[in-house]
Amino acid sequence: MRVARVSARGAARWSRGHPWIYKSDVIGAPGPEPGAVRVVDARGRFLGVALWSPNSTISLRKLTGEDRLIDEAFWEERIEAAMRYRNAVVAGTSAYRLVHAEADGLPSLIVDVYGDILVTQFLSAGIEVFRAQIVEVLRRRFAPSGILARNDVPVREHEGLPRTVEILWGRVPDVVEVSEGAVRYLAGLNNGQKTGAFLDQRENRLRAGELARGRVLDCFAYHGSFALHLARGAERVVAVDSSAEALARAKDNVALNGLENVELVEANAFDFLREQEEAGAVYDLVVLDPPAFAKQRTAIESALRGYKEINLRAMRILAPGGYLCTFSCSYHVNTVLFREMLESAAADAGRPLRWIEWRGQAADHPVIVQIPETGYLKGAILQAL
Ligand code: SAH
Repeated sequence: MRVARVSARGAARWSRGHPWIYKSDVIGAPGPEPGAVRVVDARGRFLGVALWSPNSTISLRKLTGEDRLIDEAFWEERIEAAMRYRNAVVAGTSAYRLVHAEADGLPSLIVDVYGDILVTQFLSAGIEVFRAQIVEVLRRRFAPSGILARNDVPVREHEGLPRTVEILWGRVPDVVEVSEGAVRYLAGLNNGQKTGAFLDQRENRLRAGELARGRVLDCFAYHGSFALHLARGAERVVAVDSSAEALARAKDNVALNGLENVELVEANAFDFLREQEEAGAVYDLVVLDPPAFAKQRTAIESALRGYKEINLRAMRILAPGGYLCTFSCSYHVNTVLFREMLESAAADAGRPLRWIEWRGQAADHPVIVQIPETGYLKGAILQAL
């Protein structure tokens, strides 16, 4: 195996439990080809084995502290461990995340399950080298009818990799029907967002569904995944999204579940919320699940202004006793900033609100304490008094 030599600062990151070593901490590069390399410190002491990405700013991603070969058996062990954890935390759904990259000791690898289809993402040059081995393990272990690679993500460009969508094994339909608690929905595997659905919100959708009654508003509804759960307890659900395409799928999902109390509205949620407030509308529950407003650190300020605006308006249109289920999937807007934003919105809302609970990403998207990048979704449920 080739060798990468790293600085004391690089070695210190690993000893604190974070698997990444940046380019500036690589003092002896293993050469231009990506793959698995042995990592040693400045004095030549063995530190572990890592994925090497020659073009990335994240040069090394730790695989193991053992001096061992990275072969099919290695991937199988890690995927088995990921599966054992999912068996413990996932129930009542046929769509879930099997592998959450660094959080499962499988850096830069995503594997999502949609019924008998697996959807993967190979997010670094290093992991890409092992694609065939990983596909072989997945095929043998899960006997899926198809394995898709949704490698059409921008991060691949930083790795010098092409953006593509490819079938890696078997047959993959454009759309699959999956179940989530009491509802069913269609996931667009080839062109839906992420790998086909926002699996990270599954537990929050179920929770919001439990609280739903009366008149309910679902903002940033996408395929209606929250709305489907809300409609079971609510009299009427209004689901708002700016994308006609997303709403077309939402319409199919509403029909699939035989629901007749969901109204789909194509609108900018910022405008819609303002108009509802001006019109004096009242809702018993509002869901806010916007896209990431802060994709970069530099966008935090403006993102917080956006979050505050929609949260403030949602707080104002709640009926007494009404719930606000509010989320942010911006990694850079951390839980502290999110909480401060809600406090600031509540201060302007002119009415008392009660914290009901804090929410995060579903348990099949585990967050490792030492690797903050594994967590990005945060949310809260508040109740208007
Ligand atoms: N709640 C969904 C995921 C929402 S993703 C689920 O659980 O599956 C964010 C959605 O916001 C996308 O569908 C996108 O089309 C929509 N969107 C983005 N900007 C918007 C805006 N200004 N107004 C309304 N919808 C918007």
